[in-house]
Amino acid sequence: MLPTRLTLACPLCRAPLARAPKTWACPERHSFDVAREGYVNLLPVQQKASKSPGDSAESLAARRSFLGAGHYAPLRTAVTAMLAALDADTLIDIGCGEGWYTSAFPDAVREVIGIDIAKPAIRMAAKAYGLSCPDITWLVGSGANLPVEDAAVDAVVCLFTQLHVDEIARVLRPGGHVVVVTPAPDHLAALRQRLFDALVEHQPDKFIAGFEPRFELTGREDVRTALSLDNTALRQLLAMTPYAWKAKPEKRAALEACPRLDTTAAFSLLRFRKHA
Ligand SMILES: [Zn+2]
Repeated sequence: MLPTRLTLACPLCRAPLARAPKTWACPERHSFDVAREGYVNLLPVQQKASKSPGDSAESLAARRSFLGAGHYAPLRTAVTAMLAALDADTLIDIGCGEGWYTSAFPDAVREVIGIDIAKPAIRMAAKAYGLSCPDITWLVGSGANLPVEDAAVDAVVCLFTQLHVDEIARVLRPGGHVVVVTPAPDHLAALRQRLFDALVEHQPDKFIAGFEPRFELTGREDVRTALSLDNTALRQLLAMTPYAWKAKPEKRAALEACPRLDTTAAFSLLRFRKHA
């Protein structure tokens, strides 16, 4: 049996996009080349907010090293298990970055799309996982204008990314699911205490209201993992989180000089179902 592929839509006119080995095209003759690394850029120039939107190359390299070392492996395991329980065939990972989380999702879902607005991130993902994860399609694109037909997708996952709830609701089939991963109130508290005078708690519950009334909250889970970071891992973590850029430079420099830091990563996983 041939795999059924979820129908992508042209980002310019929303007509169905036919996939071919070298170029994808819609009936209106908008066409998009498959890059050498195997990803496709579906981000029209007019939808770019800046020349190079998304994470910087330095931040991406830090993420790749930090995540590759397995510090956040318990989170990836928990998200994959939550997705597996949904019995979904098709999944979009919005804001997938360099793909470390995404690469585990084919264990839970038959067909996966990883999409990110940062081309360098998608290029890294396609290079790293193109061969080992053939069931993942890597796309440069916007979470605010997903290149997917209406009601075409069983599930969406959003890890630490901006939530465009209207767009998520548009692409999900009735009864489809969303998994949102967001920092728990005390995420990296020991690190943040060294960067800021006052510790502001994250508020994972603030996202719930945005999903109502079109979705219902169907599950939640907290994942906590103790981190004992050497200086290299600490610097990588600082480079991949937004915290360091909001801190005073002298506090950031002092933390970057620490030989070791013990802290706890804490995440909230929220699961929603779109009403039928
Ligand atoms: Zn088109």
